[in-house]
Amino acid sequence: DGKLPHTFVVFGASGDLAKKKIYPTLWWLYRDDLLPKPTKICGYARSKLTLDELKAHCHTYMKVQADEQAKYDEFWSLNDYVAGPYDVSTGYQLLNQQLEKIEHGCRANRIFYLALPPTVYNQVTLNIKNICMSTRGWNRVIVEKPFGRDDVSSKALSDHLASLFDEEQLYRIDHYLGKEMVQNLMTIRFGNKILSSTWNRENIASVLITFKEPFGTQGRGGYFDEFGIIRDVMQNHLLQILSLVAMEKPCSCHPEELRDEKVKVLKCIQPLQLSDMLLGQYVGNPDGKTEEERTGYLDDPTVSDTSTTPTYAMAVIKINNERWQDVPFILRCGKALNERKAEVRIQYQDVPGDIFEGSSKRNELVIRVQPGEALYFKMMTKSPGITFDIEETELDLTYEQRYKHSYLPDAYERLILDVFCGSQMHFVRSDELREAWRIFTPILHKIEREQTPSIPYQYGSRGPKEADRKCQQNNFIYYGSYKWHGSNPS
Ligand code: NAP
Ligand code: NAP
Repeated sequence: DGKLPHTFVVFGASGDLAKKKIYPTLWWLYRDDLLPKPTKICGYARSKLTLDELKAHCHTYMKVQADEQAKYDEFWSLNDYVAGPYDVSTGYQLLNQQLEKIEHGCRANRIFYLALPPTVYNQVTLNIKNICMSTRGWNRVIVEKPFGRDDVSSKALSDHLASLFDEEQLYRIDHYLGKEMVQNLMTIRFGNKILSSTWNRENIASVLITFKEPFGTQGRGGYFDEFGIIRDVMQNHLLQILSLVAMEKPCSCHPEELRDEKVKVLKCIQPLQLSDMLLGQYVGNPDGKTEEERTGYLDDPTVSDTSTTPTYAMAVIKINNERWQDVPFILRCGKALNERKAEVRIQYQDVPGDIFEGSSKRNELVIRVQPGEALYFKMMTKSPGITFDIEETELDLTYEQRYKHSYLPDAYERLILDVFCGSQMHFVRSDELREAWRIFTPILHKIEREQTPSIPYQYGSRGPKEADRKCQQNNFIYYGSYKWHGSNPS
């Protein structure tokens, strides 16, 4: 049935995610002839939009070049839009009639994308199942985070979805799994003898996984305040990266084998305790150049003045297995920091039997996910020239230089294409999700119950100073002596 036509249905087509990500991604895939042919697209939401209005709504995000206009028009000619409610079946009947019309009553595969607030997931999925399923092709459902807000609510959602669909039909998006360097982790680890042999507690001192954002809530903190940075970034994106860094080698590259290994390593992690954590909340910088920089989290009018929701979090995770016992995996993430960055640092141990009078620094493998994909390995070398001093240098793989002319697709492009192809490798399975919530739920509940205070840090800074100390205590050493001679990505 891979050859059947496809219909892509966007629920919540009038919304933010649809205009910023889903329609642009579908357009780029179509533009690059990657979208399987024929594929038709149908939006659904309560707003009574014409197709032209929807098109105008998406326009700024589509990045259409002058010479692409004809193809762009062609793309929109594949589109339809149906307006209807989420809570009564009549709208879905109308939608299904429209889908059959688009498909000319033929056999077709259907993909349903839920770009909706989680409050309507249940009713929408129930109606999809009862009214909108293709009876003569396959059906796949794409679900966006949040997948619940703790173990209980996540289980309720998983159980509900499992009562309607098979796990093979469910595609839970964590867009970090669509990023080039995250997808590369498997190859780096298992395609290189030099790394696979040293990827263990005998050689590695600590692992630091970082996500930094240079902006705050920008006056729209209401949504964020209910979730906080731990749910927004750490429990999903950073833990996904951790499981790819720490898992054992799967028997093959088959998606289920990979997902089995990710679940297994998560099972070796105990639920987090408060002593494993460090929480922060940003305050305005009185000397900031813009209004935004001067605005603290609590100054956001949509956030309660007494909110203790963390906008910065660090967690030290231990994995109790033979490979990783006692190796700290430090996860850090924060908003309103000094830069945008996502990276993994694998810091190796000191060389035993030192002959350089303590001047040798640790090896460090840095995997930069964004901005500017790069992989560099810090190592010691003799200072060039007449001296016999030693200094830090790097083996460097900067994608922009090494792969000048290759196009790195956006995470959503890869992931949406995977759904067409039926590859669940880069999607979150329900048991992974369950393990993630097992690790994070107790600490989230405790923080909320006890209103655990967060350490204030200034907008535009590197975060709370205490975080550097916690890194140090957990065997991650910052020397401050490394000098990079190249230019930095922006
Ligand atoms: P949104 O714009 O708030 O909502 C999408 C559409 O759902 C709206 O256009 C609206 O359409 C309908 N809707 C909104 N509130 C509703 C309510 N209370 N009851 C019923 N319908 C409502 O949401 P979004 O930002 O696109 O996000 C959609 C999903 O993706 C969410 O689960 C979100 O967490 C997730 N997500 C979003 C982003 C992002 O960049 N925006 C990133 C990652 C994940 P009608 O009124 O026309 O029906
Ligand atoms: P580094 O000297 O090991 O680390 C510098 C980073 O350490 C800072 O950005 C900061 O990041 C952190 N840090 C921890 N404690 C600190 C403290 N007390 N004061 C200041 N910073 C502290 O070097 P690196 O980051 O690996 O490399 C230095 C620069 O060279 C980076 O900008 C890197 O992107 C660039 N570089 C680029 C390439 C490439 O593009 N291929 C290769 C090599 C290096 P946090 O705020 O995240 O803690």
